[in-house]
Amino acid sequence: MLNIAVTGAAGRMGGFLIKAVTEAEGLSLAAAVERDGHAMIGQDAGLAAGCGELGVAISADLEQALAGADILIDFTFPEVTLANAAICEKLGKKMVIGSTGFTPQQRDELERLTPGIAVLLAPNMSVGVNACFKLLKEAAQILGDGFDVEIVELHHNKKKDAPSGTAVRMGEVVAAALGRDYNQVANYHREGMCGERSHDEIGMQTVRGGDIVGEHTVYFIGMGERIEITHRAMSREMFSRGAARACQWLAGKSAGMYDMQDVLGLR
Ligand code: NAD
Repeated sequence: MLNIAVTGAAGRMGGFLIKAVTEAEGLSLAAAVERDGHAMIGQDAGLAAGCGELGVAISADLEQALAGADILIDFTFPEVTLANAAICEKLGKKMVIGSTGFTPQQRDELERLTPGIAVLLAPNMSVGVNACFKLLKEAAQILGDGFDVEIVELHHNKKKDAPSGTAVRMGEVVAAALGRDYNQVANYHREGMCGERSHDEIGMQTVRGGDIVGEHTVYFIGMGERIEITHRAMSREMFSRGAARACQWLAGKSAGMYDMQDVLGLR
């Protein structure tokens, strides 16, 4: 049995993650952690997640929580994840990270902080989105430079980062397949007399509102034809099921950085 700790236990994803851990074969919830001072500290994690009493109280002490855990699932924020990564490295615990919004510097920092543990970092744990990454690579390779690429993502009105980590990853996948550097070609802003679209740019557009779980469309726009590859998330459950699957896969892995493409054998 793999013992799992979950940080961000009372967050939008936290409850789904706790439920997914209790439902997944070979996984057991060892600890649930929230930020110091959170109103849910001390409550039973299972009751808070709506999946029945589990006898695991939500705590604010990650080090203590990790004592009985093999893997930490962390869906919080980049700053919190980096602090937690340093603790996991110190205690030799593996990590499955779903937090999004890492800057390139924070991403490097994460690798620097965790040389001795296995870390799986994925901005989107859904099987469907990861299949889309593969489809996008193939589409970009087939279509080549003849099509303009634009990416539009929609999320709920509480999302803090933009564009989504998934949209950025989609942009990176397409840019790499076209031999471009995403950071050079991503265009996040058009306003006023901004001029014609440059050939190489990848437009990144963001929509925020209501309770949209997450939608991503990549447009390949050519002369007289257009291809759209869309993923729509209808519930958060498939993210948490993906995280549980990632834990099962990560169990046997040695130190290094992995993502869902590794878990699904899509590389
Ligand atoms: P949320 O704000 O509802 O939850 C985050 C939780 O983290 C909050 O409850 C907060 O109190 C808690 N937290 C803050 N500091 C903490 C600390 N030091 N220790 C423990 N807990 C702490 O956000 P959410 O919608 O659940 O999303 C969380 C993250 O997961 C975001 O970055 C989001 O973009 C990402 N996300 C990723 C995927 C994926 O598949 N990778 C899917 C959905 C969301």
